[in-house]
Amino acid sequence: MIKFDKVTKLYDDRTKAVDQLDLHIQENEFFVLIGPSGCGKTTTLKMINRLIDASDGSIFIGDKKITDYNIHELRWNIGYVLQQIALFPHMTIAENIAVVPELKKWSRKQILGRVDELLEMVGLDPAVYRDRKPTELSGGQQQRIGVARALAADPSIILMDEPFSALDPISREKLQNDMLHLKRTINKTIVFVTHDIREALKLGDRICIMKEGKVVQVGTPDDILNKP
Ligand code: ADP
Ligand code: ADP
Repeated sequence: MIKFDKVTKLYDDRTKAVDQLDLHIQENEFFVLIGPSGCGKTTTLKMINRLIDASDGSIFIGDKKITDYNIHELRWNIGYVLQQIALFPHMTIAENIAVVPELKKWSRKQILGRVDELLEMVGLDPAVYRDRKPTELSGGQQQRIGVARALAADPSIILMDEPFSALDPISREKLQNDMLHLKRTINKTIVFVTHDIREALKLGDRICIMKEGKVVQVGTPDDILNKP
């Protein structure tokens, strides 16, 4: 589904953030990138939706290079969730969730139905929350809206960059549990960045341990735990 073929990213022609990286991420897999700060996780993630372009090597989605897709279509078809979700403060929750469906010119009826469906999916009552403003929501609720927004136009790939790490431990645990449930009900390829090994072991189908821009190990949680 997503393939990295000897991908290198140099910043300022000297910092090698990612070094000849090869990755194969399967369709509908929950794939976790983990490693110490500065090992290249975020750079790897952002190269998938071309927020950052590789300096060398190729990235494929399906059998097409990402540089051969129209960049807007590429971004609309890849959901993206950040650590500190940036919701538009002047817009309602419904409007925030509907940004990509609006760009794709879905009908009003389709959008309203989708917003309510998504709010339920992330555990928020649509009747209560659809017309509220982001500032009326807790941090955990705002992250839920971030997840709903990323899922809105039903992309096949979701990128998540430490989506729960800014939350208090209880909210984090709740969102992790909901994510476990969600990953069983939606068929998506999810690439998830974290530096929390417990989170990685809990959520990941496979875990990729990175160090200094390279892969140290890739395997299932069992593989990772049983390595001598
Ligand atoms: P991680 O997500 O694992 O913390 P990053 O991908 O953010 O790692 O960073 C990898 C390396 O690239 C680090 O050494 C970081 O300092 C460097 N880096 C990241 N972004 C930039 C940038 N925009 N300009 C220069 N160096 C950067
Ligand atoms: P979550 O479990 O999503 O993290 P919290 O436990 O942080 O939510 O919040 C508990 C309740 O407090 C929620 O029902 C939410 O509606 C309410 N709440 C939190 N912050 C605010 C706020 N800034 N304005 C209004 N209500 C809030």
